[in-house]
Amino acid sequence: MSTDSFELLPNAHPTADAIREDILANPGFGRHFADHMAHVRWTLDAGWHGREVRPYGPLTLDPAAAVLHYGQEIFEGIKAYRHADGSVWTFRPEKNAERFRRSARRLALPELSDADFIGSLKALLAQDHAWVPTPAGEADESSLYLRPFMIASEKFLGVRPAHEVDYYVIASPAAAYFKGGVEPVSIWLSSHYKRAAPGGTGFAKCGGNYAASLAAQKEAEKHGCGQVAFLDARENKWLEELGGMNLFFVYQDGRLVTPRLTDTILEGVTRDSVLTLGRDEGLTPEERPISIDEWHEGAASGEITEVFACGTAAVITPVGELVTEEDRIRLAGADGNPIAKRLRTKLLDLQYGRAEDTHGWLTRLT
Ligand SMILES: *Cc1c(COP(=O)(O)O)cnc(C)c1O
Repeated sequence: MSTDSFELLPNAHPTADAIREDILANPGFGRHFADHMAHVRWTLDAGWHGREVRPYGPLTLDPAAAVLHYGQEIFEGIKAYRHADGSVWTFRPEKNAERFRRSARRLALPELSDADFIGSLKALLAQDHAWVPTPAGEADESSLYLRPFMIASEKFLGVRPAHEVDYYVIASPAAAYFKGGVEPVSIWLSSHYKRAAPGGTGFAKCGGNYAASLAAQKEAEKHGCGQVAFLDARENKWLEELGGMNLFFVYQDGRLVTPRLTDTILEGVTRDSVLTLGRDEGLTPEERPISIDEWHEGAASGEITEVFACGTAAVITPVGELVTEEDRIRLAGADGNPIAKRLRTKLLDLQYGRAEDTHGWLTRLT
């Protein structure tokens, strides 16, 4: 697992300190990139080899590379957090490594070991640790967003799993995902478009799922919403998740409900962590199907007090209202989403090293 096995090809023209500091002061999301990237190559004959950390920059891909035609690609999203003592940590990377292998199996890509997945993050951070923002205070949720991904790079137009594959990790400094922080978001209920179907790729983190969600995202924006909630493809009745975040429902009696995992739901690391932290907080987690009617009725009766979405990029974000073709379901809002806020604070305190890591969820990167 040592980073020694990653050969370093240093960037001869790294970003000047002053420019990097300017970027880190206002990074936005996904717009700026650290000076290096990690890379491991795979071929059918040689397996994984050629581990390196090299200058960040454009890839040379043959126009016939399979990924450009058939979308054989998977990715991950994970963050590096700087603690008050300057050390840099990441959160439950073995969960992402395991999910990356699940995604790989579904997309017929080769599986990457924990050692290479976590080793690549460590090797990259060994070079680019200066790109991890130093939070100015507890309200500052800046971090270095890490994006591991794997592509079918073989030059071949036949339809079959590629015999040549490349794995990379790039890193992008990030401020809070939603500018409003914990301001509740409006969500559009997509009753026509589906994100995932049984037997499909919904549980895998692959670019194709996101491509398939963009038309619904455009529809959401037309209705003044920032995100889309998807229903199941079979009955058009059960809530699954948002385009890139899992959903939770808080009940007046302390139940914390999230749709149970199926092959049409992406198993979020944040989702799993919220279930554990919810239990720690005295809530009663339940993983079960939840219908759009239950949301309607629970919001109307006051039995459902909060709904929130969660994921690595946006942490925990309260849902203020659900907009459908017919109506709008408004939620608590006025009560200020206390449970979502409490869980959010707990999670952030852990990630930024302000609370004791009682579940052993942190891994030191540098
Ligand atoms: C990545 C992702 C999530 C959230 O997963 P985390 O591990 O919590 O970041 C949820 N849904 C979809 C579709 C995703 O791609």
